Amino acid sequence: MIGRAMTSSPPPFTAPYAPDDRVIAERLLASAPLDAGQEARIDRVASRLIEAIRTNDDPLGGVEDMLREFALSTKEGLALMVLAEALLRVPDARTADRFIEDKLGEGDFIHHETRSSAFLVNASAWALGLSARVIQPGETPQGTIGRLAKRLGAPAVRAATRQAMRLMGSHFVLGETIEAALARVHAPTASRYSFDMLGEGARTAADAQRYFNSYATAIDAIGRSAGGRPLPERPGISVKLSALHPRFEAVSHARVMKELVPRLIELARRAKSHDLNFTVDAEEADRLELSLDVIAAAFADTSLQGWDGFGLAIQAYQKRAAEVIAWTDALARAHARHMMVRLVKGAYWDTEVKRAQERGLDDYPVFTRKAMTDLNYVDCAQRLLALRPRIFPQFATHNALTVATVLELAGGESGFEFQRLHGMGEALYARLREDHPKLAHRTYAPVGSHRDLLAYLVRRLLENGANSSFVALAADDAIPVKTLLRRPAAIIGSAAQARHPKIPLPRDLLPRRINSRGIEFGERAALGKLVAEIARTKIPAKGSIADSSTADAERAVAAARAGFPAWAATSAIERAAMLERAADLLEARAAHFMALLQREGGKTLDDALSELREATDFCRYYAAEGRNLFGTGEATPGPTGESNELFLRGRGVFIAISPWNFPLAIFLGQVTAALMAGNSVVAKPAEQTPLIASEAVRLLHEAGIPASALQFVPGDGAIGAVLTAHADIAGVVFTGSTEVARAINRTLAAKDGPIVPLIAETGGINAMIADATALPEQVADDVVTSAFRSAGQRCSALRLLFVQDDVADRTIEMIAGAARELRLGDPADPATHIGPVIDAEAKARLDAHIARMKKQARVHFAGDAPPGNFVAPHIFELRDATELTEEVFGPILHVVRYGAEKFENVLRSIERTGYGLTLGVHSRIDDMIDAVIARLRVGNIYVNRNMIGAVVGVQPFGGFGLSGTGPKAGGPHYLARFATEQTVTVNTAAAGGNAALLSGDE
Ligand SMILES: Cc1cc2nc3c(=O)[nH]c(=O)nc-3n(C[C@H](O)[C@H](O)[C@H](O)COP(=O)(O)OP(=O)(O)OC[C@H]3O[C@@H](n4cnc5c(N)ncnc54)[C@H](O)[C@@H]3O)c2cc1C
Repeated sequence: MIGRAMTSSPPPFTAPYAPDDRVIAERLLASAPLDAGQEARIDRVASRLIEAIRTNDDPLGGVEDMLREFALSTKEGLALMVLAEALLRVPDARTADRFIEDKLGEGDFIHHETRSSAFLVNASAWALGLSARVIQPGETPQGTIGRLAKRLGAPAVRAATRQAMRLMGSHFVLGETIEAALARVHAPTASRYSFDMLGEGARTAADAQRYFNSYATAIDAIGRSAGGRPLPERPGISVKLSALHPRFEAVSHARVMKELVPRLIELARRAKSHDLNFTVDAEEADRLELSLDVIAAAFADTSLQGWDGFGLAIQAYQKRAAEVIAWTDALARAHARHMMVRLVKGAYWDTEVKRAQERGLDDYPVFTRKAMTDLNYVDCAQRLLALRPRIFPQFATHNALTVATVLELAGGESGFEFQRLHGMGEALYARLREDHPKLAHRTYAPVGSHRDLLAYLVRRLLENGANSSFVALAADDAIPVKTLLRRPAAIIGSAAQARHPKIPLPRDLLPRRINSRGIEFGERAALGKLVAEIARTKIPAKGSIADSSTADAERAVAAARAGFPAWAATSAIERAAMLERAADLLEARAAHFMALLQREGGKTLDDALSELREATDFCRYYAAEGRNLFGTGEATPGPTGESNELFLRGRGVFIAISPWNFPLAIFLGQVTAALMAGNSVVAKPAEQTPLIASEAVRLLHEAGIPASALQFVPGDGAIGAVLTAHADIAGVVFTGSTEVARAINRTLAAKDGPIVPLIAETGGINAMIADATALPEQVADDVVTSAFRSAGQRCSALRLLFVQDDVADRTIEMIAGAARELRLGDPADPATHIGPVIDAEAKARLDAHIARMKKQARVHFAGDAPPGNFVAPHIFELRDATELTEEVFGPILHVVRYGAEKFENVLRSIERTGYGLTLGVHSRIDDMIDAVIARLRVGNIYVNRNMIGAVVGVQPFGGFGLSGTGPKAGGPHYLARFATEQTVTVNTAAAGGNAALLSGDE
């Protein structure tokens, strides 16, 4: 039961998601500088700490030693990291051997064997050196000696390498179970610990329950051995909210509050019963507001009153850190309680930068210069120190300068603590303890099985191996101490330099065009505004667009033909400017088009936004490409006395026939490409989605495209047939089924007159291969996204998953569990993951397939669909891939197991489909990935990620074989296919002689 809050919490946290770095830098640089005495003391303390790190003679060595040997900038370092990440989870010997060969073949490990005396390095290098010697440099694993070595030594190699990885793991992990970890902590009452139960975030309800149980058990175990000292000296536990809920995401807000808050309260009550420190870890920026809502709701529970152990982590690399501190203080005040706050810099910087770029955000939620993070950390430290004793600050860092600065700012040794990660910063904190015996520090101690430590281990390797990291710099004796002591404010210098010069803003990422604007759903204000705008938007009624008659179609072709000369004569610069105007209008009317996509196309919020962005990108991409290609002629080399130029020009009237599954993006992609190439266009959208198309045409006209250059002919397949059979057309661009593409091809072939091009993009039986080295959580995420998102109604969607039998049960179970967490329903509700399929006909077809599969295949998951045109996700296991004979355009996944020794059969099965649109590969074995890429003729291959959502200009889209004619949409060869070529040769010597040659200098 939840205890009702007596006082109210502060209002939900809001702060601009990604404010301007310069504004923050101005504030930070202007804050009162320390005096010379203070600066000198910081130098002194930090120097002693660095000296301790550098003279560390711990016989066990440290991570610093290991990184010195295997830095991430070396191939050995990278190979080691990938090995560490995956080896221990590979169950079968064959895959393990192949994986080890692959990684050790990439490096020169033998060379490392003798270079360091540190135990850890030696142990790893010994084990790896032993393994590496089996595969001689320069040999391919398939080579003769490689084969011999394998026969002689494969089990030994495997054992040695696994041992080395375990050794690395045990360096960072305190124990495989909480009992083992507690036993390793000799006197838990003397040192402070915060235990962390390792694992990836929950993907399924069962995962979340397992994590809950493991936290609950750990809290009791820690509590039992906690001794009798009061907080803050008592041990603690750190929990991750993403481990406690399978959909810990902003769009599932209501559900998370309902389901996760009681769980968090339950754990907090247990922690309270032992008077432990209970810290909610900080995760990704888009989950910050949600995390704080959950924390506020849990913290307000009256049953937690009288306990000062509740806490949270705050990341200083986030630009909102200062606001989070103020909000946390307001929360503690509101309930008249104390809180513990861990200040970290943040562990997901690379992910944050990538995500903001992918989402096309206006700015980053994190700083882009390391010194800004450091500067903000110091500012946040000052804020937290000023809030004592209501807030008990916990400074988590391994940076000697940061430690020394905080120590100086604290003005004493009590009322706060430092924190370090187990396996790191030992020398630094040992020296600190020596110099300041009263100063407290707590060790964050991960607990978990070897399988669970992998992701954590990689984070640590990345963190330490990055050349911006303090630990990496301190480990490098060549870097003078003076350099390490440079203050962040001095490094930044002025607010104008607050941003990293080489990390462009997410919208400025691409050459020659701006990235389409995204909206961060993790920002409550942005999401709320968008949803409200969409709800307010009035769109024309369904059915208000009448189908065209044959006569309309004839008229449209005639009008387009009449409009062609003027349009062809419009300069490429002008044509491009119109497309760019169209892109701007699309962005300005985002809510309008998203409302159309939701109501006519059944698109979820996420899908509607991606589609709008894709449409915008098409306009800008073809504008940029077209300016280049059609702007001026290309001079071709030749003999003196003549000029030769090659021009591209429009062909005439192009027919554009688009599908209902991307009623805006593919419609506009086809039309804008044809227009940019100088053709006039007759556009026929799918009969299911004429409204969206008609609004898109209106927008293009408004952007300046003359009505005569773009004609709109809504209607069904019969009208499409009239258009393609017309004698006056100069080309057809089509996206849809292979059957219809064939029919169009025949129609075109049957006509007398010029032979015109057909650009067709059709379907695919798209496959994904997941082997035993892949991370199951990542596979589950990517399979669920690829197979079920957009109700499986994307041409690129995953239909056939091949999974290695050694890991199949666990992988399929996780995918099924994750599928169970998807919500079907009204696409206008942001919490909906899967909307309806396009119409009753589609539903009937899919239902029939499901009924058939239920009889002939093994059912792993069959979801429930609400009334209406909904089809729930299904997962069927087939005995053989040949049982799937056609593209099934819905949320239905077919799985086939394969034995590692029968990999060739997998490739043959994929080839046998005859399609070649998209393919996913999940593996850590580069050799295997390369072989698949070289072998399979598939248009878009995605490695270790999902296989949908091709980005214009980034992943040009289109397939081989039955999947289409090419060229790829959104690629550099697309526009030229819409054009015809003309060479102009001028004899420049015709007027009596070659003046240019004669007047040339010697
Ligand atoms: C006890 C403990 C608990 C932790 N808990 C959490 C947690 O709950 N959540 C979490 O996210 N992290 C957590 N961390 C990880 C922590 O964020 C990292 O250990 C920390 O970033 C390393 O900081 P440092 O001061 O030791 O290293 P430093 O090397 O001084 O700083 C590294 C920091 O700088 C950032 N950085 C690097 N390059 C740039 C750049 N170009 N622009 C901006 N910033 C940059 C890095 O992302 C990193 O945050 C925890 C760490 C400890 C010690």
